[in-house]
Amino acid sequence: MKSEIVDLRSALQFLASIPGQLISTKEPVDPVAELAGVYKLVGAGTPVAPPTRVGPAMLFESVKGFDMPVVTGLLASRERTALLLGSRIDRLPFDLLEALRHPVPAATVTGAPCQEVVLRAPLDLQTLLPAPTNTLSDAGPYFSMGLLRAEDPETGESDVTIHRMCVQGPDRLSVYFVPGRHIDQFRIKAEASGRALPVSISIGLDPAIYLAACFEPPTTPLGFDELTIAGGLRQRPVELTECVTVKAKAIARAEIVIEGEIIPGERVREDARTNSGFCMPEFPGYLGKAQSLLPVIRVTGVTHRRNPILQTIVGPGEEHVNLTGIPTEASILGMVDNSMPGRLRNVYCHSAGGGKYLAILQFRKLVESDEGRQRQAALTAFAAFPELKHVILVDEDVNIYDSNDVLWAMTTRFQGDRSTVFLPGVRCHPLDPSQTPEFSPSIPSPGVSCKTIFDCTVPFRLKEQFRRAQFVDVDLKRFLPEMR
Ligand code: MN
Repeated sequence: MKSEIVDLRSALQFLASIPGQLISTKEPVDPVAELAGVYKLVGAGTPVAPPTRVGPAMLFESVKGFDMPVVTGLLASRERTALLLGSRIDRLPFDLLEALRHPVPAATVTGAPCQEVVLRAPLDLQTLLPAPTNTLSDAGPYFSMGLLRAEDPETGESDVTIHRMCVQGPDRLSVYFVPGRHIDQFRIKAEASGRALPVSISIGLDPAIYLAACFEPPTTPLGFDELTIAGGLRQRPVELTECVTVKAKAIARAEIVIEGEIIPGERVREDARTNSGFCMPEFPGYLGKAQSLLPVIRVTGVTHRRNPILQTIVGPGEEHVNLTGIPTEASILGMVDNSMPGRLRNVYCHSAGGGKYLAILQFRKLVESDEGRQRQAALTAFAAFPELKHVILVDEDVNIYDSNDVLWAMTTRFQGDRSTVFLPGVRCHPLDPSQTPEFSPSIPSPGVSCKTIFDCTVPFRLKEQFRRAQFVDVDLKRFLPEMR
């Protein structure tokens, strides 16, 4: 099945063939706040505020003021993500790790579908593309599933990353880079020599490309082309095409490509047009503050397929959790397995942490001397992913995807004073609002946290006393033939 998915529309076709994975509405929807409000109820998922849930992807066929449909939530369930990758829920990080270890380089093609229609500047993004505004407090409309691609002006090395881009005018987008991100390093180099940095923004893609792009250092250091991981996942090269108006390359089978350049010296306040003070909802579940001085992309052209579909993310939520969490799980599995093979059975970056702050590690102690190595695995996870805040350790008989089961372990295999390890004063991630000196006297400045290990594993020597009640295994199909 997975080899049939080559782009967004083949992914949608695939999902339409599976009950409950894709729904659509013809009812006209306002891209300002209403679209996100609908999807909050349908399938956005935690950490979007309740009521929300994990649900199907959704196609909005009629968007007020535009002649273009919008789709969201493609990766907003782990089950669907596994289906789209021809994988299984518990195998996803292993498949990503496999692709990371067997990358397939991208290939450049001509006659790209994303250039069936070519529009050159002057053009007006505000009327051309239905970029949604997710809440009424947002700085403006955002392209939130825009895959930015650029090349190092000195070495030619490339990078792809999803960055949030806010519409700032007919041909202007602001782009936010967390300090240190790879394309920002290219931009700084270009700016230092007074040059613009050509970029492409590909929107509406094969889900494998979006997932691969969310790998971060140290797994994918500067110069590592994340598209090679997408190639590894699909076992065929991602196809690139030369842009029409700038010297850059874009994803050939994208629905839409915005072409442009980051202008040296130009800056904009993210909420310059609304003075809202906020940008958009961020992955921990809170509204982010608008940034004061963001680089600006001048748009030189837009190309798209015939009847293009704009893809967006309603986040925070399950889609963001999967995008950041599954590559993180792969990174943790890879690093721990290098140091202690066969012990770490699986990792789940839980929705509650937006895919970044909370990881559940399933650890198997094989011999007496494995006692304590589960905590070493937690420390390795912190090293593999510096933004991680909480690690919950469980045994091999606990289902890491079932929060009830994890809390059961935290209740019956946990003593607060013995099973908790505090690592105060460690740099974490600035978006967690609890990381302030006002919240805790152990925090010297915002962004520093007390990382914590919750060790819910049974001490090795006591294992026999913690055997779960055993029920007999039966073939359920005999009793309920229709149940999967
Ligand atoms: Mn990178």
